[in-house]
Amino acid sequence: MSFADLNLIPELQRAVADEGYQDPTPIQAKAIPTILARRDVMACAQTGTGKTAGFTLPLLQLLAPLANTSLSPARHPTRALILVPTRELAAQVQDSVKAYGRHLPLRATVVYGGVDMNPQTKALQAGVEILVATPGRLLDHVQQKTVNLSRVEVLVLDEADRMLDMGFMPDIKRILALLPAQRQNLLFSATFSEEIKRLANQILRNPLSIEVARRNAPADLVKHQVFEVPALRKRALLAHLIRSRDIKQVLVFVRMKRDANRLARELVRDGIAATAIHSDRTQAERELALQEFKEGKATVLVATDIAARGIDIEQLPFVVNYELPYTPEDYVHRIGRTGRAGMPGEAISLMCPDETRMLADIEKLLKRQIPRETAPEVGRPPRHDGDYDRRPRHDEARDRRPRRDDHRPASSDRWQARTVPVSTVDATGFDFSKPYEPSSSATRADAPPPPLRGPARRPMAALLGGLPPRPKDKA
Ligand code: AMP
Repeated sequence: MSFADLNLIPELQRAVADEGYQDPTPIQAKAIPTILARRDVMACAQTGTGKTAGFTLPLLQLLAPLANTSLSPARHPTRALILVPTRELAAQVQDSVKAYGRHLPLRATVVYGGVDMNPQTKALQAGVEILVATPGRLLDHVQQKTVNLSRVEVLVLDEADRMLDMGFMPDIKRILALLPAQRQNLLFSATFSEEIKRLANQILRNPLSIEVARRNAPADLVKHQVFEVPALRKRALLAHLIRSRDIKQVLVFVRMKRDANRLARELVRDGIAATAIHSDRTQAERELALQEFKEGKATVLVATDIAARGIDIEQLPFVVNYELPYTPEDYVHRIGRTGRAGMPGEAISLMCPDETRMLADIEKLLKRQIPRETAPEVGRPPRHDGDYDRRPRHDEARDRRPRRDDHRPASSDRWQARTVPVSTVDATGFDFSKPYEPSSSATRADAPPPPLRGPARRPMAALLGGLPPRPKDKA
């Protein structure tokens, strides 16, 4: 089947040709005609299947007759709303909408948290037919009355499972209540839990169910390997693998945000160019980290599951699970970053004895055994990073699950500028050679508690205005 067989309008056929796509992927072949027939869709598909074009192309075609070049905002009401869980995915979907719609005068914009609202407000007020949004920031705009959803004809919920994992259900319900009852609904999800099915039942009408295997099913193109290694030797093994295999680009997964920072810092200290991406970094920092990684300036991108969600990097050859994920589905999402576009990939897991149970769950989900290898004897247990390799304290448990505030403005990663040797500083100015220092305003589980007793640190005179403020207070 070709794109011409799908009856795409010439503007869209030109756009897919510009992208270099030859034929539609299986999900596109099924979803495009269904969506063009204005039917609801419930699709089980992961990133990497071509699902974004699967809903974006028909969406653009449905809206094409309404495309116009008028300057009046009234001529550009929001007719399609695409909800996504994370900022990265939002930016990526917006890029796709722009790319596929480049020959049509339809307007599209994206709104997500962590960045200034004003430019988003301006774009919304000018009028946009297609709006890509994370739920929290969209509701912020609703509250400010800078967006009008009363003309939405098509709703897309992309990566719906992850949105529910992140606790967005109440936000989604609020948004649904603002949409016209008569509309087309398209739901995309990598997994179909009972909760997703309930959501689908609530919003979809007589949907066509589409289920496609990944374009590159994990078993086909990705080689899985597990190294059995004590936790304290993981970092030395990772550095050894990177050097001995001459790895130029590797995405490394950890479970917690603070460990992403710490591992990136340690690797930089080991002489390996590394950066980190997680939800406590500002949007600008996240984008820069991703850009550095894509451009090859950083060999290693250490990521948490949420931050890596939806990241699309062509031909990523290696993914390392520095720590196995708590849920086996996350393993599938993680390794979905490699073995794309028909290229082979390797998924390497570093498993310590504490993690054998997690591997068993993963193997159950994959319905196959992953070959174990004994780690080469590299490195000595480092003396100073026992902190990293220790078991998590109970007060860190809340960091284990994805948090719904992933899209919120980051507050705790305002790195201070320092004068340091260039090699240890990434382009955001974050110095990976220094220990992590949360900003003074941040409330973190690991912040030392304030002293309960003892002399007051600041004399009473200060409170009465008698002493100059400390430099820190000015910040
Ligand atoms: P997605 O599943 O939407 O994240 O898409 C994954 C990747 O597949 C993106 O890099 C797309 O550019 C690419 N892609 C989408 N459709 C096609 C197609 N028909 N042929 C080749 N590549 C495609």
